Amino acid sequence: MKSKTPGIKDKIKAKCYKMGIPMVGFAPKERWEQPPTELPQNFSHWIPREFWPQSIYPEVKTVIVIGLPVQLPIVETAPSIYYHELYETVNNLLDEKAYEIANYLTLKGYPSIYLPRDGYGDIEVLLESPLTFFSHKHAAFLAGLGSFGLNNVLLTPEFGPRVRFTSIFTTAEMKGDPIPGEDLCTRCLSCAVQCPVKAIESRYPSGSSSPPLINKMKCARRSEKLRKEYNSPCGICIKVCPVGGDREVFNRQDTSIYTRKDGFERYHDAWEHVQRYGSKK
Ligand code: SF4
Ligand code: SF4
Repeated sequence: MKSKTPGIKDKIKAKCYKMGIPMVGFAPKERWEQPPTELPQNFSHWIPREFWPQSIYPEVKTVIVIGLPVQLPIVETAPSIYYHELYETVNNLLDEKAYEIANYLTLKGYPSIYLPRDGYGDIEVLLESPLTFFSHKHAAFLAGLGSFGLNNVLLTPEFGPRVRFTSIFTTAEMKGDPIPGEDLCTRCLSCAVQCPVKAIESRYPSGSSSPPLINKMKCARRSEKLRKEYNSPCGICIKVCPVGGDREVFNRQDTSIYTRKDGFERYHDAWEHVQRYGSKK
């Protein structure tokens, strides 16, 4: 195992660019050991030790987090078979790309392992215990890629919550990316109001720095129902969030498109058309 890693971070970034990965961040393992001072929200409970990367792979020095977007006009059809297929595709791509990066680093003399994007057998498992053995969302936060929204998803400047992450554990030592500390959530409450099962707490208790509250079991039960219909994931809180440069790219700055049909008939007609096919009603 090499102890020094000159230039390897730039090589990884260049490789990610070539692989079509728009988001990559680096977090030294020490960032799991205590909450960083740049936190935009106060975490009432920090990540338990058994979920730290060094508890899972003791040799790890740096966690590399990669992110792929889910394309907004497809998320707008959610819940639908179209969004379901996109979700599966992005998950598979993340697994493949993370595996390739881990092998690349290992061949260069820095033993590395990839983490699976999801890491659970089925939604029924999440109904029993709604956690996986490692959180990519927290890793992405610690790699400086975004801040947590009220919907408990990581919000990014580029894609808002419409990005999925996975991680690579590497023995290469690399400087961490800065954690901006900016809170991207506007507290617009759209995610809470439009969640069909009211799984998201619609207020920040006693001040804006409190942690987001989400009823994971309510959310998982809705996922279970949608899964039986071949319509999972739900995606509504992802769809309606106004944060993200992708809104401008896809000309969707006006988020009232989701709550009123008047003036947006052709969009609603398109979503309803997609929703009519390919899944159980
Ligand atoms: S995924 Fe759906 S059920 Fe879960 S919190 Fe978001 S809107 Fe609510
Ligand atoms: S929809 Fe609004 S309240 Fe919810 S995460 Fe996005 S910005 Fe925050």
